[in-house]
Amino acid sequence: MDEGGEWGHMQVKGIGASPGYAVGKAVILKRHDGGAERRRLREGETDAELARLRQAVERVSRELERLADETMQRAGEEQAKIFSSQMLLLQDPEYVGAVENAIREQGINAEAALDDVTAMTVEMFRGLEDEYLQARAADVADVGRRIMDALLGREDPLGQPFGEPVILAADDLAPSETARLKPESVAGFAMELGSRTSHSAIIARSLGIPAVVGAKGVLSQIAAGDVVIVDGRSGVLHIRPDEALIREYEEKRDAHRRRMRELEAYRGRPSVTADGRRVELVANIAGPEDAWEARKAGAEGVGLYRTEFLFMGRSALPDEEEQFNAYKAAVDVFGPEAPVVIRTLDIGGDKELPHLGLSAELNPFLGNRAIRLCLERPEMFKTQLRAILRASHYGNVKLMYPMISTLQELREANRLLEEAKRELDERGMPYNGAMEVGIMIEVPAAALMADRFAREVDFFSIGTNDLVQYTMAADRMNESVGHLADPFQPAVIRLIRRVIEAAAREGRWVGMCGEMAGTPLAIPLLAGMGLHEFSMSAGAILPARALLARLRVGGLAHLAETAANLDTAEEVAEFLRREVPDIADFE
Ligand code: PEP
Ligand code: MG
Repeated sequence: MDEGGEWGHMQVKGIGASPGYAVGKAVILKRHDGGAERRRLREGETDAELARLRQAVERVSRELERLADETMQRAGEEQAKIFSSQMLLLQDPEYVGAVENAIREQGINAEAALDDVTAMTVEMFRGLEDEYLQARAADVADVGRRIMDALLGREDPLGQPFGEPVILAADDLAPSETARLKPESVAGFAMELGSRTSHSAIIARSLGIPAVVGAKGVLSQIAAGDVVIVDGRSGVLHIRPDEALIREYEEKRDAHRRRMRELEAYRGRPSVTADGRRVELVANIAGPEDAWEARKAGAEGVGLYRTEFLFMGRSALPDEEEQFNAYKAAVDVFGPEAPVVIRTLDIGGDKELPHLGLSAELNPFLGNRAIRLCLERPEMFKTQLRAILRASHYGNVKLMYPMISTLQELREANRLLEEAKRELDERGMPYNGAMEVGIMIEVPAAALMADRFAREVDFFSIGTNDLVQYTMAADRMNESVGHLADPFQPAVIRLIRRVIEAAAREGRWVGMCGEMAGTPLAIPLLAGMGLHEFSMSAGAILPARALLARLRVGGLAHLAETAANLDTAEEVAEFLRREVPDIADFE
């Protein structure tokens, strides 16, 4: 936090969770917590109390139904599910049934009974092992609050228009609160809690509202009515800024909006260059929720499904059924034709999985990670392979192994894949026998042997995040060697070129799913080398499509030739900036 005087300008740094800029007056979300009267029922009052409860539950049921419909239209099925599952709670004998019992048996009013049962149920869910069930505690609390509001005839604090677009400040938003917001009345979010993948962040992105989350201490600094600037790009909140800063941000905001409107024209269009070369722009996702966001952002499919996130933050491995559902869910979002590249477990390095009981390593990025670990634990690996195979029956699923460094690893993984197929055959379960199988090229050894690998795979996907760190011997997590971990290093460019050429000789397609693929300055270079598929975070898709539409690939082949023969990463970047007209519009 940066103070500029007691009530002067102040800055709070959080996480930029949804891009864009907003300037507006703060509204601090106040919830109607507490305040409910507790009393004993008088003789003969029980039936009337039960009827009050039933009416309140019906009102909430209608509200939730409407929210589910609206959310379905606006954000898709995955988000709408929040409300359909909350509706189930209203019919749950363990919840609403228990409130009725408390009214009847303890002779207390509906508010008191609701308070007690909600608190108990929330506690119960919080105490469970399963992470999914733990998360249900938030739903119960949310539904409980709604029934209470209905009982007390209180208006929905978010149902009212705010008059002018405001900056909504809160600790965090419950799922139903975010979905109830009227996007036209909220200019930006300032949240004390949350991360890039927290619920409010995902909804903010899907509504296109700039947001800063995880801004610790912000609520104690903002008073209602204060002017606040939300910088969703850098993750900074300016509280009570001066006039000059307000004007600067209003200009930024307007320029950003103009740019977004221009980009809108590229939604739903194919990705083609000005001279007619078709490429694929697909998304990196970490779970089915991201798939909706990616589709809405204009992705043509999935180029990297990072499955390890399904395995993380829990105490046991997900079984075949759970994995199958998570993979199929992404296929269902994009439909049967769109490619969905599912990568097998890439655990290790910076992604830990405590319950696997792995021993600590001195150099985890060079240790027993990804495919190495999977080959050592064939049963765990085959469970995943069967789940992916089963999902392949429903769409255009492709399988990809991470961190391959030798041909033996690829062959051993394929042998286990054949076993997994036989196991499904025995159970009579369908899968696509012709599913494409590829590898990530993220270890220099694989890049150097790309000609051999190309004979034994259907495709390559270049993982520059790791390829850069291994080529340059510069830890991707260590900022002090960030200048080395740069994809424009000529050594990296030489390897990428080599991989694409080796694949072309065998008639294989090549994609890229490292961060480089969504970097505007790299796109002309990669398109010139003949990269077929670019996989990136959802927000980078439309800018990439707009950029490609301006490029003539025919005139780009020389970029790689020159770049690979320059001396330094700086020279490469400078050269590309000079050669590609208007690239500055995209950076
Ligand atoms: C990569 O290494 O470039 C990659 C896409 O994989 P991850 O970032 O998941 O390691
Ligand atoms: Mg990687």
